[in-house]
Amino acid sequence: MAGNKIEPDKPMFDPDSWGLTKQQTDLTALARKLGQEKFAGRAEKWDREAIFPMANYKDLHKSGLLGICIPKKYKGLGADQKTYALTAAEIGRYCGATALTWNMHVASCLWTGSLADDLPMSREQRKNHNRRRGIHYERILKKGAIYAQPFSEGGAAAAGFRPFGTLATKVEGGWLINGKKIFASLAGSADYYGVLCTEDKEILSRKDTMYFGIPANATGITIEGDWDPLGMRGTVSRNLIFENVFVPEDAALMPKGIYFEAVVRWPHMFTSLTPSYMGIAQAAYDFTVNYLRGEVEGTPPVKRRMYPTKQHAVAEMRIMLEQTKAVWFQMLNDAKPNPSKDEVLRAYVAQYTVMENSNEMAQLAIRTCGGQSILKSLPLERLYRDSRCGGLMLPWTSELCIDKLGRECLYERGEEDD
Ligand SMILES: Cc1cc2nc3c(=O)[nH]c(=O)nc-3n(C[C@H](O)[C@H](O)[C@H](O)COP(=O)(O)OP(=O)(O)OC[C@H]3O[C@@H](n4cnc5c(N)ncnc54)[C@H](O)[C@@H]3O)c2cc1C
Repeated sequence: MAGNKIEPDKPMFDPDSWGLTKQQTDLTALARKLGQEKFAGRAEKWDREAIFPMANYKDLHKSGLLGICIPKKYKGLGADQKTYALTAAEIGRYCGATALTWNMHVASCLWTGSLADDLPMSREQRKNHNRRRGIHYERILKKGAIYAQPFSEGGAAAAGFRPFGTLATKVEGGWLINGKKIFASLAGSADYYGVLCTEDKEILSRKDTMYFGIPANATGITIEGDWDPLGMRGTVSRNLIFENVFVPEDAALMPKGIYFEAVVRWPHMFTSLTPSYMGIAQAAYDFTVNYLRGEVEGTPPVKRRMYPTKQHAVAEMRIMLEQTKAVWFQMLNDAKPNPSKDEVLRAYVAQYTVMENSNEMAQLAIRTCGGQSILKSLPLERLYRDSRCGGLMLPWTSELCIDKLGRECLYERGEEDD
């Protein structure tokens, strides 16, 4: 602190050391400023009351960040996945629930934007897609529309092993949607639900996955269930029921079959949940250093840094933080269509490392800082609870990353044992 003025936090990824582009430098600086000046102070309220951080979304809209991954030709900021992830990690440092829900919103632009541009489509599909995404982007940029991304159903579909059980049945002029989604972050706060479902046919196929932007106020949508979880409480991830919800053809956010193409050709799309937790890992480390130096605002200026046990713990945390950042950053460099096998394996490693290490670092931070650090007046106990959620998030939970890694390290595609 210098007088009453708050010292700006340092970047998580120093632009010179990590070779950030001008856009990455500018957007991460903007996110850090918003996070430090606005989101950090509000985070306790969303967490304590388990309510959606709407005020933060107004700021994200005002600053242009709601359109971060909308292509430039549609007047968005045109960020790619890496630029988005670096920006989201800065937000995650200050409010995990805002960064995580922002991911759900941004996915609706990233998937329909640069990711879809990398995938093959017929001329007719491309023409329709360009027109439809224009409608979707305009709502976000002009009206500040917020999108959710409900795909989990409580079965094997969200893990990628079965077609989604939510069905789209063709009717005159559009589709009827029926099904149930669980853990739908932004339930009741989003303006549109970006729903993944399967075309209703005799034999259901993952290749017939469809992706619709459904207005939250459409007839036939209900929200059910309580929301009083351990962490990420501001995400308000309640269940959504769709009962004969009619959507017109133009509600399709991607042509049929293109989501499945993306899953096969663009696997890094599933790493977009990691930035929130990368930010939490950095925040746990920063808190620990400041606390041991006696510099956390609202606590007595007692230094604890002179004890060797504290120094060892911080050293361990620093090692874990640098390792996590390094593999995560390289994974972001790898993100592209048709990555090599090594790049895909590294994506599982990065996902696992970020999700597990953020929680490991938060628990080490608590052990090291001690009893006073778990008071609700300080952010550390929230970081600890929020960080526990990352490894549970499908489709790449920590368990499934380990499953995939073990198998894919030992088997080439199509190989079987006799
Ligand atoms: C804070 C938070 C926000 C969320 N927000 C969203 C959201 O916005 N949209 C959304 O769609 N989902 C969201 N989710 C849901 C999340 O991605 C998972 O779908 C959900 O946590 C699964 O919970 P479950 O207990 O039903 O898992 P289960 O399906 O019971 O699985 C439990 C564990 O078993 C393993 N497993 C599951 N299936 C298999 C399999 N076939 N083979 C081997 N192992 C398997 C996985 O490791 C999984 O973690 C959110 C979750 C959290 C915690």
